Amino acid sequence: MSIIETIKAKIDVVEEIGLVVALQKSGKALKGLCPFHNERTPSFYVFAETQTWRCFGCNEGGDVFSFVQKQQGLDFRETLHYLAEKVVTFSLGYAPDQWDTLAHYLLGRGYTERELVQGGLARDREGGPGGTGGGVYDYFRHRLIFPIRDTRGRVIGFGGRAFGDNQPKYLNSPQTLLFEKNSILYALDMARDAIKHEKQVVIVEGYVDAVIAHQHGTKQTVACIGSAITEKHIQQLKKLTRQVTLALDPDAAGESATEHGIQEALKTFDRIVVPIPLATSNPVAGSRKRYEPRGMIRLEEQVDAEINVLQLPAGEDPDEVIRENAALWDYAVAHPVPLVDYYFRVKTTDLNLKEPAGKTEAARRLLPIIGMISDRVKRDAYMRKLSAMISIDERTLFDELQRVLREQKTTSVIAQFSAPLGQQHVSRKNGGGSHTSAQGQAATEFPGEGGEPPDVGARGALEEESRTALGLDKRKSDTLQWEDYLIGLLLHNPGLSQHVCGIITDGDFAGTDTRELYHILNSDFQRGSSSLHEPLEQLVPSALLTTVKRAWERIESGTPLDGTGQEKYAVQCATRLKRTRLVQSNIEHQYALRDAKDTGDVALEQQLRRKLLAIHQQLRTIDSATHLQG
Ligand SMILES: [Zn+2]
Repeated sequence: MSIIETIKAKIDVVEEIGLVVALQKSGKALKGLCPFHNERTPSFYVFAETQTWRCFGCNEGGDVFSFVQKQQGLDFRETLHYLAEKVVTFSLGYAPDQWDTLAHYLLGRGYTERELVQGGLARDREGGPGGTGGGVYDYFRHRLIFPIRDTRGRVIGFGGRAFGDNQPKYLNSPQTLLFEKNSILYALDMARDAIKHEKQVVIVEGYVDAVIAHQHGTKQTVACIGSAITEKHIQQLKKLTRQVTLALDPDAAGESATEHGIQEALKTFDRIVVPIPLATSNPVAGSRKRYEPRGMIRLEEQVDAEINVLQLPAGEDPDEVIRENAALWDYAVAHPVPLVDYYFRVKTTDLNLKEPAGKTEAARRLLPIIGMISDRVKRDAYMRKLSAMISIDERTLFDELQRVLREQKTTSVIAQFSAPLGQQHVSRKNGGGSHTSAQGQAATEFPGEGGEPPDVGARGALEEESRTALGLDKRKSDTLQWEDYLIGLLLHNPGLSQHVCGIITDGDFAGTDTRELYHILNSDFQRGSSSLHEPLEQLVPSALLTTVKRAWERIESGTPLDGTGQEKYAVQCATRLKRTRLVQSNIEHQYALRDAKDTGDVALEQQLRRKLLAIHQQLRTIDSATHLQG
C-alpha cells in the first residue's frame, strides 16, 4: 500500500471533517454548515461510503486530502505530512528537566496560567492557589511523554514515563475537561482498524508495552491508563470486537488487576438472552428428560464475548517479552488462554487439592465461574475437568452447581412465552438491533437505490447508473485505470494538457495521487513550459513517484502512439473521467435534493434542481458527442 492509500484506509473522512464541522446524520450521509462559504442552512455533505464530501452551495468537494488542504490552507506535501503523522506515529516527546520550559513557551504564545493549569500542563506554585499571581510550574519534567489521543486522534492528555528509578514511574495528566482517565484507552486511535481486522483486542498495562507491541506488528494492542479496566473501556471496545485478550502483568498485583478487568468485561459485554427449554429432571442423569408444559423456558444470559488471558513468563512485561523472545509473544497472542482455564490455574495455586478442605474450597471458587458459561457443551467439559482435578463425583458437583446458580439468581429467570419454541431468540443487545434496522431503513431511502427518480430528464442510462449508487467498486477501479492512463500520456507528452484542460479539472479525478499529479503537470504546462524542464523528482512529492512509475509504464506497455493517437486517447480519457464525475455528481445532487425536500429547504431545492439540469445537459452533450464519434 502506498502512503496515500494507507492514510485513506486509516483516516475516516467523516471523523476528520467532524473535527471542524458539526455533522448531523442525514440518512446515509452527514451534513453540516459549509466551512468554505457562509450559510445558515447546511448544504455541506459528507458521504461515508465513498469517503468524499461536497458542498452544494459553493460546489467544493473531494476526499480527505482535498478537505484538509483547503480547510487548513496547506499544499499537497504539507497535507500529506499532516495526515501521515496522524496515521503512523505515536509522536513521543520529551519534557525537559526544567521547572518552566513549557509554561514559559505557552505563556509566550498567549495562553494564560489558568488555561495551563486547567489543561493539566502546569501546576500552581505554593501560595498561589487558583493561579492568582503565585505563578505556575510545569506538570511534566524530565519525562518521556506519550501523547494520549481520543479515538479521533485528538490529543487530550499526556502520559509521562520517568527515566531511571524516579517516582512515580508513570505520571498521567490530571483529570481535565477533555481527559477522563478511566474512559480512555491509549493507542485505540491507532489500533482500531487492526482490532476489527484481527477480530481481537490485546489490552496491556503500560504505554511502552503498547508502543513496542505496535512496533512489533501487534497493532490490535491498546493500554489502559491507570491500573484498572473500567466499564467505559469495555463499552468502546465492544463496538469493535468480541474477543478481548488481557495481557496484564503476571505478577500478583497484575493478577488481581487482571481479575478486576475480567469482572468488568463480564459485566459490561452485552449479554444475549437465550431461551433454554426447562427440563424437570436432572439433565446429567439424562435418561428421563421431560419438558415443562409448552412455552416454559428459562432465559439464560450469555456474555457475548470471548475473554482470554495472555500467558507470559512470570515477572516479564509484554515489552520485555517482545524484545527478548518475539516468537513467544506471537504464540501467546495467537493462543491466548480461555478465561476459565486461566481461573482454574490462578484460583487453585494456593490450595492443596489432596486435602478435603482444599477440594471444597476449589469447588467453592470455581463453580460460580463455571456457572457463567452458558454453552452447555463447554460447561460440561469444565465440570469434568473440575471433577477430575479434585476427584469428586461429577454428579455431586452438578447438584452443587445448581445450588450456586440459584444463589446467584442473576443469570436466570422463568418466563412464559406463548409463541412456539424456536422463535424465541430474545436479544437484549444494547442498541445493536436498532442500529442495524436504522441502517437498513436508510439504505432503502437512499435515492440512488430505488428512491424517487429525478423529476428532470435523462432517465434510462442515468437511473441505471444511479442504482449502482456510491459504491461503484468495479467502476471505480476502471476509472482509476483511466486516470493512470491519462497521467501517463501527459507525462510522455505534456503538451496534451491543452487538449484536456478544457474538459476536466483537478476535481474530476477520483484518485488522490492522480489528482495531485494532474494538478502539478497541468500547472507546470500552464506556466508555459511545453516540457518538464525540472527533474520529475523535484516537481513531484516522493509519495507520488510510484504513481508516476505506474502511469508511465501503462503507456510504455501499450502500442506506441503517434501525436494524433495520443491526442485522441487523451481526449477520450478526459471525457470519460468527466462523465464519471458527472454521474457521481448526479447521485450526490439527487441525494441532497431529497434531503432538501424533506427538510423543506425550498431555496436549496431550487438551486439543486438547476444544477441537476445542468449536469444532465452536460451528460447528454458528452453522450451525443461520443455517439457521433462512434
Ligand atoms: Zn460551501
